[in-house]
Amino acid sequence: MPKPAATADLHLHTTLSDGTDAPERLVELAHEVGLSALAITDHDNIDALARAQAIANRLSLELIPGIEMSATAEGLEVHVLSFFLDFANAALRRHLSDQQARRVARVHEMVRRLRRIGVTIEAQEVLQLAGEGTVGRPHVARVLLKHGYISSLSEAFTKYIGPDNPGFVPGSPMSPAQIIRVIREAGGVPVLAHPVYLKRDALIETFVRDGLVGLEVYHPGHTPDLVRHYEQIADRLKLLKTGGSDYHGDAKEGAPIGTVRIPYGLVEALRAWHAAHVG
Ligand code: AMP
Ligand code: ZN
Ligand code: FE
Ligand code: FE
Repeated sequence: MPKPAATADLHLHTTLSDGTDAPERLVELAHEVGLSALAITDHDNIDALARAQAIANRLSLELIPGIEMSATAEGLEVHVLSFFLDFANAALRRHLSDQQARRVARVHEMVRRLRRIGVTIEAQEVLQLAGEGTVGRPHVARVLLKHGYISSLSEAFTKYIGPDNPGFVPGSPMSPAQIIRVIREAGGVPVLAHPVYLKRDALIETFVRDGLVGLEVYHPGHTPDLVRHYEQIADRLKLLKTGGSDYHGDAKEGAPIGTVRIPYGLVEALRAWHAAHVG
């Protein structure tokens, strides 16, 4: 039998943000589904890589440094993925530690706003659930579920903490241009995540002027028609194409690991861009 072609999943979350698998377990799962390469892209957090590296080496899996960073443009949530960035970069580390502090303050603000409409949960319980990882709205949603305010996690985002809901607080004060600059200065390849959630294709061109290099074309939120649509946009704007499952474990967000995978050649294109621009 011919060896199966090498594939990669470049969008994965662990317990260091809002995923439910520890980094070590995630690498084992990647091995089980036959991936050759993976990128852990936790929200505003880079701590999983060090924990995942030893087991990736043991299983001969390639672990690509990655992250998913939050920004806001025109009141909309923008997620910027990045690959091959230098995690030792001082400005990147400063940004991430500021962003962690803002996320904790945001939980307190969400809890205050929810209290005003009679929803009484404790910030401490949300923060405890996130543990050492990045705290986010999915942790608030899990506490709302536990206390019976909602009957599914997605209900939290339509009723309480989604845009236009009473408990909503924006996730980041940074513009995509600022985030792209932090990434580029840390030697990373900035990629716009799941453009379908943004629903504003016109913004992609402005991000390209700000230094965007890639587009996440392959994502569980993209139908085959949308994949073709974003492939065309990527080709027209000369953007690199990436993809992944946006797996969050049992958190149900995204799709099972490895169900959205890209040919290894796209990883090589990212690496080539990185080598040509960073060295
Ligand atoms: P945050 O970074 O705190 O703003 O939280 C954003 C995360 O919440 C996303 O990455 C998803 O994992 C999750 N999320 C956003 N919208 C929904 C939704 N409608 N249903 C379930 N999870 C969602
Ligand atoms: Zn998430
Ligand atoms: Fe995202
Ligand atoms: Fe994600």
